[in-house]
Amino acid sequence: MLFAHDTQVSLQAAVTLVNSGEDPDTLTTIEDLDAYYARFEYTGRRDRDAAELDAVRRLRTKLRALLTATREDAVEIVNGLLGQARALPQLVRHDRFDWHLHAVDPQAPLDQRITVETAMAMIDVIRADEMSRLGVCAQDDCDGVVLDLSRNRSKIFCDTNCSNRAAVAAYRARRR
Ligand SMILES: [Zn+2]
Ligand SMILES: [Zn+2]
Repeated sequence: MLFAHDTQVSLQAAVTLVNSGEDPDTLTTIEDLDAYYARFEYTGRRDRDAAELDAVRRLRTKLRALLTATREDAVEIVNGLLGQARALPQLVRHDRFDWHLHAVDPQAPLDQRITVETAMAMIDVIRADEMSRLGVCAQDDCDGVVLDLSRNRSKIFCDTNCSNRAAVAAYRARRR
């Protein structure tokens, strides 16, 4: 495994959140946020109100900037985010999850927890000098963020939808 399990899950969650802002936006309702929360096995406080949804939606711009930054810029962003949140890393074990890191109180607002979790995950990426695992989708009209955790670094599209479209385009080009 390239990174610790909780790091990989946090990175996947951050990329999914950022990409939900691609047209059409797939994070527009409290139910959408419920599904996101369940999919990435978040725990802790949920308000299930419009303010929480708005805060998480607004976070996407900030996280995109971090995930697509240069290594030098990412350092500055991560240090800034962790400082603002007064992050205090603690090893915790709860529910069915083995020892992993929490750096903010589980009762902090969800957008803050996602921010800090992403920043903590980026610490590993930066220290391992693996920023190249993050990029932007190779599909012309897509700005989706790509997270490539594969051994052979083969992932260039943000999701199967984009890779399928590329395969169809390549097929058409061959037939022309
Ligand atoms: Zn936890
Ligand atoms: Zn894409």
